[in-house]
Amino acid sequence: MTGPKWPGAPLEKLVHNDATHTMTTPKTPHAYREAAFTHGYEFTQGSGYALPEYPFTEPPELTTGETRRYPVVIVGSGITGLTLACALAQLGVDTVLLDEDNTVGVKGASSRGICYTQKSLEIFDRLGIYQRIAAKGIQWSIGRTFAGQDEVYSFDLRQQSNFNLSAQPPFINIQQFYIEGYLVERIYALGHVDLRWKSRVVAFEQDAACATLTVETPAGTYTLQADHVIDATGSHTPFHAWCGATMTAKRGDDRWCIADVRFKELPPAERHTWIEAPFNENRAVWQHLMADDVWRIDYQMAPNADPSVVSREDAVRERLKKQFGKDVDCEIVWVGSYAYRSQCLDQMRIGHVFFMGDTAKVVSPFGARGGNTGVADADNLAWKLAAVLKGRAPASLLDSYHEERHEAAVQNVAVTNRTARYLRPADGPERVFRHATISLARQYPFARQLVNTGRMAVANSYTRSSICDRTGGQSVQNVAFQWAKGRAGTVNELLAWADGNLLLLVFGDLSATAGERLGQIASHAPLRCVQVLGPDTRPLAREHVRDPLGHLQGACHVFGHAWALVRPDGYLAATGEAVDATLVQAIEHALGMQSRSLS
Ligand SMILES: Cc1cc2nc3c(=O)[nH]c(=O)nc-3n(C[C@H](O)[C@H](O)[C@H](O)COP(=O)(O)OP(=O)(O)OC[C@H]3O[C@@H](n4cnc5c(N)ncnc54)[C@H](O)[C@@H]3O)c2cc1C
Repeated sequence: MTGPKWPGAPLEKLVHNDATHTMTTPKTPHAYREAAFTHGYEFTQGSGYALPEYPFTEPPELTTGETRRYPVVIVGSGITGLTLACALAQLGVDTVLLDEDNTVGVKGASSRGICYTQKSLEIFDRLGIYQRIAAKGIQWSIGRTFAGQDEVYSFDLRQQSNFNLSAQPPFINIQQFYIEGYLVERIYALGHVDLRWKSRVVAFEQDAACATLTVETPAGTYTLQADHVIDATGSHTPFHAWCGATMTAKRGDDRWCIADVRFKELPPAERHTWIEAPFNENRAVWQHLMADDVWRIDYQMAPNADPSVVSREDAVRERLKKQFGKDVDCEIVWVGSYAYRSQCLDQMRIGHVFFMGDTAKVVSPFGARGGNTGVADADNLAWKLAAVLKGRAPASLLDSYHEERHEAAVQNVAVTNRTARYLRPADGPERVFRHATISLARQYPFARQLVNTGRMAVANSYTRSSICDRTGGQSVQNVAFQWAKGRAGTVNELLAWADGNLLLLVFGDLSATAGERLGQIASHAPLRCVQVLGPDTRPLAREHVRDPLGHLQGACHVFGHAWALVRPDGYLAATGEAVDATLVQAIEHALGMQSRSLS
């Protein structure tokens, strides 16, 4: 399958291929083994998606024969590796990014991820690709859950948890490869990233000084060295074995079949889930709209179902007829079946290697927690690496990556495992519980909370981080305020103004002494300060903004006179009241300069 080639065709034009999917591997004149066409999917069908192809360029190691050493080498340009490379480029850090493939998405297979959360969208806004995602994707906030013929539960995310205060919506549905493609194009525009396609890491070793990677390419094999290696090679990573990583892993027998479909008549742009779908032998079904008017329909299959049988076009069409009526008029874009496992590493850093995205944890797709948390992993490490490499923080800051993102990983694995058990309950108490909740939910609102078709991803809070105070650790939404001259601004604009430094927001009046102290602190620390005022208060600080509706204060979880120390990843490091030694300590802690007890 060949799609239009980079950089000729803009990504928006790459919809899906008309040619029938052939499952053959393109040949190269070299012995280089091309990336597997189906990438772990058991069996695929459909016309498929045409993905961009990026050029292989011979690296300097092959032309000069030298082994070079780089501060940061990222392996894997999936959504996680690309987000990290883009975030580091934005912060002015040079990286090498290696990928064994020459495209985005899953070559020859479906889009995989479709649903992106507010926190990810806020991150993409900072990285400069949000507008493209919003223009291409589908915004949704209403979800409905059915059992049999009855709607047992519905929600409107705009009514929940202040979702509507952010400049980004609760969710956008878009095929994962579009986001990856936008990241690639943004990376090319930003510079700083040496993006090496068709570059497979085939061997690795590390000692106290550095890591050495062996890279296979169509033009030959070479080695390079790195101070920091980021393993973003996904769930089939070779780095676990190379580093001796230990983990907790579990595989169930639940099996699903995806159908990406384009209908002549569109169903409503809502997320519909059936726990027991009468048209799918009382098993679960998911229905979501994505970009290009393509619907993702996930059908739960019998545990022993043969993937090649359930993915056959006639079987899929039969299923669609049962769901949408015998006259349903639609085109099948892609079909693929999958099973899933859950897995969580014990350590997200081993020596020079940081594990990120699906290499750090694997979760079932329920709740969109896979890609979204990979994006959050990347955003967490990016500012820390930048701070360390630019000499703004000691190397010990990097230890907090494991503390924070491991806590998030454990939580996400636990939440998705609960959903998986609800959807494929074991005989006995689990099945009885599920039956009871469905029956009760039809009548009693309290029971609707117990019906678990997936708990959508959230920005995980950090409660065990040595660099966050007990008052910190929460994500700050991208809410609006007014710049001094009245123009509307957002938290992300403030973070861009802070330019990789910590951002200190001081709410309310300031005494002259406090103002002076702030000036002194800011001149000695990688910190930008801004005073946040009500509509009429007189400013003391030169840098000030107004928060007439209190949204900025609400987003920082403080009231009245207070300060909030915000990190470049939009997380609160600490909050407090007095401009005194506690603020100085909070800044030191946030930069990993003093360790805090994790108890
Ligand atoms: C059916 C399904 C639906 C999903 N829905 C959602 C959703 O709605 N929202 C969501 O957030 N997540 C979703 N996910 C999960 C999401 O797709 C994954 O979590 C995400 O792709 C992980 O991204 P990654 O970058 O960590 O790894 P990957 O996407 O797997 O990328 C790994 C990259 O590493 C490269 N690579 C591998 N080995 C090497 C090597 N040795 N050398 C060099 N390069 C290498 C590969 O070519 C690839 O580009 C879904 C998953 C499935 C299966």
